[in-house]
Amino acid sequence: MFEKVLIANRGEIALRVLRACHDLGIGTVAVHSTADADAKHVRLADEAVCIGPPSAAESYLNMATIMAAAEVSGADAIHPGYGFLSENAKFAEIVEAHEIAFIGPTPEHIRVMGDKVAAKKTAGAVGLPLVPGSPGAVTSEAEAREIGREIGYPILVKAASGGGGRGMKVVESEDKLSAMLSQAKAEAKAAFGDDTVYIEKYLSNPRHIEFQVFGDGKGGAIHLGERDCSLQRRHQKVFEEAPSPAISPEQRAEMGEVCRKAIAEMGYRGAGTIEFLYEDGGFYFIEMNTRLQVEHPVTEAITGLDLVREQIRVAAGLPLSLTQDDVRFRGHAIECRINAEDPATFAPSPGLVEQYHAPGGLHVRVDSGLYDGYRIPPYYDSLISKLIVYGDDREACLLRLKRALREYVIDGPKTTIPLHQALVDEPDVRAGDYSIKWLEAWLAQKE
Ligand code: ADP
Repeated sequence: MFEKVLIANRGEIALRVLRACHDLGIGTVAVHSTADADAKHVRLADEAVCIGPPSAAESYLNMATIMAAAEVSGADAIHPGYGFLSENAKFAEIVEAHEIAFIGPTPEHIRVMGDKVAAKKTAGAVGLPLVPGSPGAVTSEAEAREIGREIGYPILVKAASGGGGRGMKVVESEDKLSAMLSQAKAEAKAAFGDDTVYIEKYLSNPRHIEFQVFGDGKGGAIHLGERDCSLQRRHQKVFEEAPSPAISPEQRAEMGEVCRKAIAEMGYRGAGTIEFLYEDGGFYFIEMNTRLQVEHPVTEAITGLDLVREQIRVAAGLPLSLTQDDVRFRGHAIECRINAEDPATFAPSPGLVEQYHAPGGLHVRVDSGLYDGYRIPPYYDSLISKLIVYGDDREACLLRLKRALREYVIDGPKTTIPLHQALVDEPDVRAGDYSIKWLEAWLAQKE
């Protein structure tokens, strides 16, 4: 087992990783920008190294200073968290070249899944169902026209290097194809420095359902069921739950097995998430994330597993701590992403936390670096807390969530707690009856 893990991240996820390390008796090294010197995980880490000024490019994305911190502290592994360098194949390569373990997949798997066209080809080859569309990059307008006729409109033109919900254009009909295709390519070139695009059928009202998978890097793999992340604003997840209220235990077992086999065949190492759109009973692969996800705690709540612990074990060359037959799903869990934002306009609201009281009680978990007197820096993502609630069933979970949201006090910055309070009272949310379109339509109607 490792002796010392360097945590190359900040905020709640840095704290999450630190806790898993300390639970395993492993030492921790926090690296932080000057803006994060007072962060909770920095205070709790065994060692801390300042790696640069506030700008992420000069700190959390600065491979040279992070590697120097690892060398100086004598860390034998690096956990990248999510975002920042977590899906950077070059970083994983550099870490391994220094004979430090990268707590994540191999650079090859990160690279393949980071290129959407290559990812789709790989996914298809290992048996995952795909959204109908172009077999690879679309090279000419004539080819696009042919594919459009074959799959039917509307279609979606997607940038191969896109991410974070950017670089997608819906084309309603063939007469708009020529203009939209040139526009999509020009925008992709400007935003990602790569004008490669591909085409998918545009699904009109799907749910977002993703499967958590784990590989041991030697052909062994398990799936840990699905999460429903359909409640999104601007393709950003807001509220996630497990299990999905829309699928049956039989569908879970069937799709889970398809995912498990795919991961085994790839020889994948570590945690991964296979994302699907789900419509009319069918699953359609959209992408695979080669890291721990923000919403992983809902899976932990219904399986009783510590996913960061599993990541660390696999990276250390140990086997997964359980087999597929040992995996049990129990109860229901929901996560609310709480952002330092105005709950109506979503304008960022960083600054001083004057009073902080986290909710508590049975089956209530708060992953947050906030404390009384903490100043939320304005330089980074606005996610400040994740509230995760478990119940024996969905109804009990929703009731407990309502109770926990009522207890939660964050005075000072504006937060999205009121948004979540309104959501848990919505009949459609209570009934689990929503698609990826639901939240934006609901917000538009409230304006
Ligand atoms: P990104 O890497 O930018 O997150 P994804 O391919 O994961 O890109 O897609 C992000 C979101 O865009 C999805 O969660 C879904 O809301 C929407 N989307 C993607 N592909 C399709 C499609 N074929 N039809 C309808 N919506 C889609």
